[in-house]
Amino acid sequence: MSEVRQDPLTGRRVIIAEDRAGRPDEFDAAPARRIPIDCPFCAGSEHATPASLAVYPAQAAEAHISPDAHSNTRREGEHAGWQVRVVPNKFPATGEPGERWRPHSAAPHAGVHAAESLFKAASVCGSHEVIIESPDHVAGFSQLTPQQAKYTFVAYRDRMQAAADAGHAYAIVFKNVGAVAGASLQHAHSQLIALPFTPPEIETQVGNASRHHQLRGSRLLCEMTAQERKAGVRMVAQTDHFAAFCPFASRFAYEVWIAPRQPVAPYQQSSCGLLKELAALAQDVTQRLQTVLRNPAYNFVLHNAPFHLDKHVAAAQQWRLEIFPRITRTAGFEWGAGCFINPVLPERAARELREADIATEHRRPANAQTRRTMQP
Ligand SMILES: [Zn+2]
Repeated sequence: MSEVRQDPLTGRRVIIAEDRAGRPDEFDAAPARRIPIDCPFCAGSEHATPASLAVYPAQAAEAHISPDAHSNTRREGEHAGWQVRVVPNKFPATGEPGERWRPHSAAPHAGVHAAESLFKAASVCGSHEVIIESPDHVAGFSQLTPQQAKYTFVAYRDRMQAAADAGHAYAIVFKNVGAVAGASLQHAHSQLIALPFTPPEIETQVGNASRHHQLRGSRLLCEMTAQERKAGVRMVAQTDHFAAFCPFASRFAYEVWIAPRQPVAPYQQSSCGLLKELAALAQDVTQRLQTVLRNPAYNFVLHNAPFHLDKHVAAAQQWRLEIFPRITRTAGFEWGAGCFINPVLPERAARELREADIATEHRRPANAQTRRTMQP
């Protein structure tokens, strides 16, 4: 039996249709064919990337991680023993730093005065950065050392702060693992895109959280997390400060959110200690996904609030990390209706992930051949 569920934060409706998972699938999802290239992200190939924006060396004391966030010049010895480094994307989706966000003067259209034209454009002043998560050629997040995982989350924080300082409106951090999830290079990396505007989906979430805060005086995501912890059926794992759960209205099979258990500051103000705990939980969750789904492609998305909010609106916001495996295919219905069909009950997904025996599966090679594919 199918049911429609609504997510309180995003307002999204999702159709949970377990029966869909059992139907015949004539199309085998062949693994993507790899074309061997010299990996530009491995240690020793630093010359193949633009100069680092930030470097996190192995010997840095936790309290002394202070890369020169605004430096765009290669410094003497910066590559010695790095664990994580951040570079500008060589093929950016945004314009050059310093480019102005301005209304585009509408090109004249035949028979339409420029002032009446419906078609508007503007240059995208932002930044597009790559966070290289390890000097070694590993692919999955759970394959990083604990220090590399922690530095990755610290780098997100530092680069978000740099984006806020640069006056950008919003920055999103995301990670694509596997070709199906959008990765073009296998080496573990994530990306940050800073924008001069807040994307519509984020605006919706900010509005829903603000309305909830006005009505009930609490942060919507914190209340959702508290209810998930109380219900327990969708819980995957938890630590002192974070809960990992399959959200009630999961868009994707085995989707997991990691959310703070109590209200915390905007992500860019997080302490190293908190990020160490977050990184360990994210490694735990990706290891569970790897064990249960046999090395799936997946995405991470860090949903932080826009940078320059009114303080009353800001008080309603709470960041979270979404992790979603890409084992279901997004088809005509999803693209056409903007509404997802999920063939796996979130309660079932959570139980499998919770019960996964990750101790014996630890650090399964990322190129393991077995995989599981589903079509909604
Ligand atoms: Zn590599």
